[in-house]
Amino acid sequence: MKSFRSGRLEVKLRGSRAVFAGRLDDAVQLGDLAAQLPAGEVVIDTAGVTFVNSVGMREWIRLIRALRERGPITLEAVSEVLITQMNQISQFRGVKILSFYASYVCPSCGFESSQLIDAVAQAPTLHQMQVPKLPCPECRAAMELGDYPERYLSIFRERPGSGSDEPHD
Ligand SMILES: [Zn+2]
Repeated sequence: MKSFRSGRLEVKLRGSRAVFAGRLDDAVQLGDLAAQLPAGEVVIDTAGVTFVNSVGMREWIRLIRALRERGPITLEAVSEVLITQMNQISQFRGVKILSFYASYVCPSCGFESSQLIDAVAQAPTLHQMQVPKLPCPECRAAMELGDYPERYLSIFRERPGSGSDEPHD
């Protein structure tokens, strides 16, 4: 396994899989990363990304663009800060998202938690701009998304001309 640092981001590479942890901020440079990943399908796990600003987002988009030219990209366990940023930008059409984190809150007792959502199994729900219903671990009431659905789910909204999640080629 290779690993390297760019600013306050740590990237671990294992085969075609990259695991990101830390901050996507002014100190990060992802331009060289594409060259370090083998050609073909790439999987990126960003569960450990805790902060994203506009410079970090620009680097992230640059990386996604470079990788997309070479093959399919799959994102796994996309962190809350990253999925909400990605939802504000249309650059991510065609990037496959397997799972992401979202904040849930219990309207009954106020319990809050970050939940990993399986975007493949839940695709029909997400297309409708809904999140899967989860019981509160404290009081069993139905928990709700802790923010506007658009902030997490715009990216999953069913698009004209694409009836399916899976690319056919
Ligand atoms: Zn509760």
